[in-house]
Amino acid sequence: MTEEHPQDRVYQASLQDPEAFWTAQAEHVFWHKKPSKALQKTTKKLNGGVEHEHWSWYPDGEISTTYNCVDRHVLSGNGDNVAICWDSPVTGAKEQYTYRQLLEEVEILAGVLREEGVKKGDVVLIYMPMIPAALFGMLASARIGAIHTVVFGGFSPTSLAQRMEVSRPTAVLTASCGIEGSKGPIGYKSLLEEAITKSSFKPPKTIIWQREQFRWDPVVKEEGQRNWQRLVKSARNRGLKAGSVPVNSSDGLYIIYTSGTTGLPKGVVREAGGHAVGLQLSMKYLFGVHGPGDVMFTASDIGWVVGHSYIVYAPLLAGATTILFEGKPVGTPDASTFWRIVEEYKVTTMFTAPTALRAIRREDGDNDYFERTFGSRGGLRSLRALFLAGERSEPSIVQMYQKLLSEHCAEGAVVVDNWWSSESGSPISGIALSASAGEDFASPHRNRPLAIKPGSAGKPMPGFDVRVVDDSGNEVERGSMGNIVMAIPLAPTAFTTLWQDEERFYKGYLKRFDGRWLDTGDAGLIDNDGYISIMSRSDDIINVAAHRFSTGAIEQAITSHPDIAEAAVVGIPDQLKGHLPFAFITLSTHHHPHAAVPEEELFREVQKHVREQIGAIASLGGIIQGKGMIPKTRSGKTLRRVLRELVENATHGEFDKEVQAPTTIEDAEAIGVAKEKVKEYFRIRGASLHKATETKAKL
Ligand code: AMP
Repeated sequence: MTEEHPQDRVYQASLQDPEAFWTAQAEHVFWHKKPSKALQKTTKKLNGGVEHEHWSWYPDGEISTTYNCVDRHVLSGNGDNVAICWDSPVTGAKEQYTYRQLLEEVEILAGVLREEGVKKGDVVLIYMPMIPAALFGMLASARIGAIHTVVFGGFSPTSLAQRMEVSRPTAVLTASCGIEGSKGPIGYKSLLEEAITKSSFKPPKTIIWQREQFRWDPVVKEEGQRNWQRLVKSARNRGLKAGSVPVNSSDGLYIIYTSGTTGLPKGVVREAGGHAVGLQLSMKYLFGVHGPGDVMFTASDIGWVVGHSYIVYAPLLAGATTILFEGKPVGTPDASTFWRIVEEYKVTTMFTAPTALRAIRREDGDNDYFERTFGSRGGLRSLRALFLAGERSEPSIVQMYQKLLSEHCAEGAVVVDNWWSSESGSPISGIALSASAGEDFASPHRNRPLAIKPGSAGKPMPGFDVRVVDDSGNEVERGSMGNIVMAIPLAPTAFTTLWQDEERFYKGYLKRFDGRWLDTGDAGLIDNDGYISIMSRSDDIINVAAHRFSTGAIEQAITSHPDIAEAAVVGIPDQLKGHLPFAFITLSTHHHPHAAVPEEELFREVQKHVREQIGAIASLGGIIQGKGMIPKTRSGKTLRRVLRELVENATHGEFDKEVQAPTTIEDAEAIGVAKEKVKEYFRIRGASLHKATETKAKL
């Protein structure tokens, strides 16, 4: 028998005795009042009489997250270490803040917020671009015990108004403009004013960071608008500051809205105590980031959970340096940007979404920037790991970057797919880089982590009891696909409820399996070695002749074809089999063909990949090729629902029917492109589609 790997041992320990495990972890953060216990289980009763289990972490502890992220490092003599490096290719600006400077900014802004009427327990809505002031705003809110809700700066007034209405903020922190990619500044004044008009709740104060690229003009005092820099200047002159106010462990640090499949976004509440403890553990244990000297570059946005946790809170809790990047993977100015940052700041740990790497691959298919520019001068040697999350990473992308990292980065550098969600607050699974570093996981990078299996998101992290079950909630055999669920309690970074909506928490997560399991909404499998593969959202499962296939698995088979850069698979209704998989593909060639219908040879080759890797039963009902037609959300998730509707409408001859896109869509024009392609495809293939498929499927 092989010896148990430390990651497995640590995991088992966390589930067998959560009290002991999490009590030990709580030692690594500063408590204003030390908790007497780690875990408390209770039950909650809903209006209809339903009872369900509830839990809380460190119930009687009191903590200040800002104190732990900022003051603590200054007091322990690390005030001169760099906390934040801001790099903004869209404006040409760069700034750095030491922990001491950060403390000063945050103390003063906290004083300003208090003076402007923000009290402990109030909500502060933050609608900001990726600039240091946004981080000051988050930390300053937390400093006075307020709860922040960061709304992604690219959201429309409607999305913003929805979030305003439900969270009822005392103050809104914003900026005069955002600058997305190379598009130039977008003024926020009209967006915000429109949102306030639409929202039935009117936030009393709007505090505006004026950027020189585009000013907010005029600042209307009568409407509660204030100039941020002026308020700070006046506070500085008067010596106005605010000390850190501890909150109860289970008080909210922030609310993050995640799009529900229907209706209003869900307000996930992050609780202060469990979040601080769980994040500091994940930073050392999973990411191998231990403190001063480590530099984390998370190329995400502070509007997403990845940004909250790994741009802001976790690197600062650890006392490391975080890179705040205002730019895009490509176009600011080109596909070399990420690697330039790694070289310039000696980044040790990088985190991004696979969609960013795919965008780079499209622009820089030969990896010229990586290999010949930065790699050849050894500029990427500091990089120890590249973490990927947000959606499934297909094996081809993991393998490609693993090869590059092995050749050009630190010895033993790895690509780590990790799976999690807004609800979980930190990775639910991954490959821990410091698993074998002893009791407190403190000694860095000397370990042999578990082997990476491309296509898998690793093994579970401490405290997340992950299972795969069928639709009745019974566990399936190892290696079988099913619904991915978790036993409760969840680990401390995870939510325990939704903002002021216990009913919806129960309905959205617990009801499906009668409170027995918490439904993650994801589908996939756990293999014989305990590795988890996330294949798709449960509602992206296609039922083909009573066999369930995940779109993710089929997409993976398709993208294993060397000419295909990207694929999105949806189900197309079929009289015989219920549904057939139908693929939208983007080729990796520079000159993308105009025709929507691919060459017969390509079709046959792709079909062969699917049949070999999944089975003949999953044979494709058709392939549409095109560029810029796969719509995505702002956070990089493929909007399969939109493509599915287009295809379904087309089978009824309704080619021009409107499809509803969520307000979180990144590239609304992709829908128009897809619509045209679907139309063209059906014009050519027409009614012969299913007949042709049938014969092919039987070949
Ligand atoms: P969000 O709450 O917006 O962060 O989205 C969470 C969802 O993103 C998860 O439920 C998954 O569907 C998906 N996701 C995140 N990370 C991964 C991953 N590593 N592999 C596959 N899907 C992922």
